[in-house]
Amino acid sequence: MEKLAILGGKPVREEKIYYGRQWIGDDDVEAVASVLKGDYITCGPSVEALEKKLCEVTGAKYAVAVCNGTAALHCACIAAGLKEGDEVITTPLTFAASANCAVYVGATPVFADVDPETYNIDPDSIEAHITEKTKAVVAVDFTGQAVDHDRIRAICDKHNLICIIDAAHAIGTKYNGKPEGSIGDMTCFSFHPVKTITSGEGGAITTNDPELYKKLHLASQHGIVRTPDEFVEKNPEGIWYYEMQTLGFNYRMTDFQAALLISQLKKLPEFSKRRHEIVKKYDEAFKDVPEIIVQKEIPQSDTTRHLYIIQLDLDKLSCTRREFFDAMSAENVQCQVHYVPVYWFPFYEERGYKRGLCPVAEKIYKGIMSIPLYPMLTDEDTDSVIEAVKKVVEWYRK
Ligand SMILES: *Cc1c(COP(=O)(O)O)cnc(C)c1O
Repeated sequence: MEKLAILGGKPVREEKIYYGRQWIGDDDVEAVASVLKGDYITCGPSVEALEKKLCEVTGAKYAVAVCNGTAALHCACIAAGLKEGDEVITTPLTFAASANCAVYVGATPVFADVDPETYNIDPDSIEAHITEKTKAVVAVDFTGQAVDHDRIRAICDKHNLICIIDAAHAIGTKYNGKPEGSIGDMTCFSFHPVKTITSGEGGAITTNDPELYKKLHLASQHGIVRTPDEFVEKNPEGIWYYEMQTLGFNYRMTDFQAALLISQLKKLPEFSKRRHEIVKKYDEAFKDVPEIIVQKEIPQSDTTRHLYIIQLDLDKLSCTRREFFDAMSAENVQCQVHYVPVYWFPFYEERGYKRGLCPVAEKIYKGIMSIPLYPMLTDEDTDSVIEAVKKVVEWYRK
């Protein structure tokens, strides 16, 4: 057996690889530079072009580009009309923003448990948590795999709930052939550098509902309307006139970020293809490793995977997750954990959320780590990731 690097052996590779990384090409740099040299660096034609492009890619009627995914979720909660006293059901196995967005508008996040095999929010658990106060669901396409849209839609219709999809992981994913972004009432995307396409910071909300679109637009742009036609009639001031109708935020995306995203969107099919290939290769490699449990895919989802998670079967290993993780780092394969159950954080704990609320999510959390997955990984890189996982498993095998 080969000695682990953490115990003084030779690491599987010399250069460290991380779990995620952007891919910015010369064409992306040129797209940004040309906007920077132009007339508008914010609120210009690139943002409009991006919104149009996002509609094409997602099949949604409307898109609003914003400055990050968290702002997208906040705007969705505002547009949904959520307020103090309302409850919003979400998953604990997500980035904190999926729950925080409810808190931003004074509403209360309620955590439903996840499916033990797909790790996505469990529709039965959503139903079990519905009360008279429930107004919305924030369902997360965890690791990029689409949630059970059919069942969640049916639950939302039955109980008159707004269905918000947190698709921060899932641009490029399709559910029953339909692109993510046109299925929920509102779908939120993030374009942070670890996500599938990036603008540094960036986000968007898509919807098919014209009323929600108007509200999303207001929420992200100070609540200010500038629609010359309407105003020319309504007031004698002229076309310069604008009006603040609601309390909104400045969540605008800049034009150079929009240009970067338009350029990145062109590569989405290629990025998606490469992610598919790597996922397939990892699935094959870990199929016969009984200590490693891989996430189950649902047949309805054609998934552009954002994260590849391995779950350690700790009963079969003589190490802790911590020891496994540190051993992987020493082999120069830097993993990450997605995610700490949101209600375990002090902010939520102080507000009365107790450990044990979602036992399935908590159990999954204890054994998981995300191994490197991004399109720029070479075949040699993925070989060394697999080699490192197998090496550490063999060392700690009971
Ligand atoms: C990244 C992420 C967000 C937040 O996006 P930002 O652009 O970083 O604000 C929200 N939800 C999930 C599930 C995410 O992974």
